[in-house]
Amino acid sequence: MKPIERPRILLVPYPAQGHVTPMLQLASALQLRGFEPVMVTPEYVHRQIAPRIEPKSGIICRSIPDGLDEKEPRDFFTIEFAMENNMPVHLERIICSFDEDGGVLCVVVDLLASWAIKVSKHCGVPVAGFWPAMLATYRLITAIPEMIRAGVISEFGIPQHQGKLCLLPNEPMLSIEDLPWLVGNLAARKSRFIFWLRTLSRSRTLRWVIVNSFPENGDEMIKQQRKSVESPPENPPHVFQVGPLSCHSGSKNPSFWEEDRSCLDWLNKHKACSVIYVSFGSWVKPLGEEKLNELALGLEASRRPFLWVVGPSWQERFPIGYLGRLAGRGKVVSWAPQMEVLKHEAIGCYLTHCGWNSTMEAIQSGKCLLCYPVAGDQFVNCTYIVNVWKIGVKIDGFGWRDVEEGVRSVMEDEGEMHQRVMELKARVIAKEGSSRAVASLTAFIDDLQ
Ligand code: UDP
Repeated sequence: MKPIERPRILLVPYPAQGHVTPMLQLASALQLRGFEPVMVTPEYVHRQIAPRIEPKSGIICRSIPDGLDEKEPRDFFTIEFAMENNMPVHLERIICSFDEDGGVLCVVVDLLASWAIKVSKHCGVPVAGFWPAMLATYRLITAIPEMIRAGVISEFGIPQHQGKLCLLPNEPMLSIEDLPWLVGNLAARKSRFIFWLRTLSRSRTLRWVIVNSFPENGDEMIKQQRKSVESPPENPPHVFQVGPLSCHSGSKNPSFWEEDRSCLDWLNKHKACSVIYVSFGSWVKPLGEEKLNELALGLEASRRPFLWVVGPSWQERFPIGYLGRLAGRGKVVSWAPQMEVLKHEAIGCYLTHCGWNSTMEAIQSGKCLLCYPVAGDQFVNCTYIVNVWKIGVKIDGFGWRDVEEGVRSVMEDEGEMHQRVMELKARVIAKEGSSRAVASLTAFIDDLQ
């Protein structure tokens, strides 16, 4: 085998924007530390991101077919089918193709793409898990066996009683209904739970898990986690909290969609802290017409300017005459340059679905949050935003008055919430050299080598 200058690391994200972005950021960090990162994504993702990654970033992109019909929607279940049935053989082909060219040092696999753990092990390549979300949600998933044993959930993940759940001492109470797989009807919930059981079983033997979370009391939390597990796996993985990851030069945040930059000019015309930014991320199914309308009316009633990210097909479902009535005060775009928007001084608060990337971007930008969680890990993230960090407020209901009231409470905050988010921002983006996240990534690399 020919030796290569830079040891090669393959990265396999789950194919959605909120997963590809942090994986690319990790690729960028690994490239800076002397590795050759190779991102492997299905063709439909590759088409969107590869042209937006500059060659000087040193990140190589390779695509594999997902075997689905071009026109078939890529939702949780079709993607799961493709990952389990169609993609493994193609990843194996890519790993083998490097055999004569320096080989692969390690494959970093998003835990939601656990199919790639199986393939990498089969090819005899070491695997590191990647959790693109908060440590607390990773902890929640790894606690599934304990929850079943304790009778909190059935063996199909269905809550056995109502109420609150506390997984760790000094951690917030979570509502049992907020468990991340409880999305959709009973059959969908069970299927999602089986997906997590499969993930758990495949990640049991991992040596490393890299988490895109900032290390706040994290080490303590991991120690407690180990103590609290009745019968821990023999060698629990080393957990490295490396967040918040960010992009380095030459690798701007590659969006799947074209960013509408006109909203930045529009923001320039507004006073500091006057605008509400509204976005529900990339993945959440639209709220449904009724909630969309209540949200629209609540924003109208707030009498404040707002910038709202809504896909084209949903823009048609606003109340009749809505956009005309609010021309000038409400700006609607299909996709925004979110990080630049959040950093803009005109933004006063962020009405969010509490996706983990969006949450960290808001913290990095020092913006308070108005929370409207919809699915998955967003309810847990919301609990931390509202009850632990106290940097946001949850909208208390779905009616337009609830939205109006929520907007008022964040925009008219006396400054305490804002001070807390600025303090959290300072802790999270401490100087690079001294940051615990950087040390954590270095520790992973040392162990890997
Ligand atoms: N995003 C963006 N422009 C938009 C809306 C979202 O660039 O108009 C980005 C956002 O900055 C974040 C990602 O899309 O990095 C969404 O990830 P998140 O984890 O918040 O939510 P998800 O889409 O996974 O539900």
